[in-house]
Amino acid sequence: MLLEENLRRVEQNIEAAAERGEHAAEAVTLLAVSKTKPASAIRELYEAGQRDFGENYVQELREKAAELPKDIRWHMIGHLQRNKVKYIAEYVSMIHSVDSLALAETIEKEAAKYDRIIPVLVEVNVAGEDTKFGVLPEDADALVRQISALPHVAVRGYMTSAPYTDTPEENRVYFRKLRELSVDTHLKNYNNVNMGVLSMGMSNDYEVAVEEGATLVRVGTSIFGARQYVNR
Ligand SMILES: *Cc1c(COP(=O)(O)O)cnc(C)c1O
Repeated sequence: MLLEENLRRVEQNIEAAAERGEHAAEAVTLLAVSKTKPASAIRELYEAGQRDFGENYVQELREKAAELPKDIRWHMIGHLQRNKVKYIAEYVSMIHSVDSLALAETIEKEAAKYDRIIPVLVEVNVAGEDTKFGVLPEDADALVRQISALPHVAVRGYMTSAPYTDTPEENRVYFRKLRELSVDTHLKNYNNVNMGVLSMGMSNDYEVAVEEGATLVRVGTSIFGARQYVNR
């Protein structure tokens, strides 16, 4: 099974990186990013023990969730439009891409309908790239504080996508910055907020992210192979 081999290799790399960074490898969750990949590939990894999967598009997440085992934890990692929250509110495990109070308020409303609390991460544009979603680092803490007042939304930490680079070492500074930001917010002790999740690192830079304290890495290509986009 090729996909399982990829999964095991990434798990081993995470373990080695955690050791280098003097972090506990067990504290790092590997999120398999399955966007554009068929349900059959997800099932193969499910059978190898993987339970956390990340998707970027609401429609695709819904279709896969409907046909795959119910104990899969689905993470929404892509930019989320407010009018689509209702389609995933019943079962989504975590929303990584909260970058406005308006979006958090919509999640609040939809989560309340199902009488559940939805764990979310605040997405931070650490490098201040024009093309990226997310709040600027200097605005992140204030957004967490505002969201903390919403009873059906639970902030669990920060998420970032570092710049694309062939030299992952260049992103170390951004991972370090997000970790520091997370510690600062943690020390504020906001009600209903827990900063235990630090979602950072993708196929090309997850090892550096783990060395810098990531507790959740989002890996697609290194597990599933390259993506092919058809007229998206
Ligand atoms: C696609 C995507 C990933 C995975 O990227 P790879 O480079 O394939 O590992 C991680 N995070 C987000 C937000 C993504 O959109």
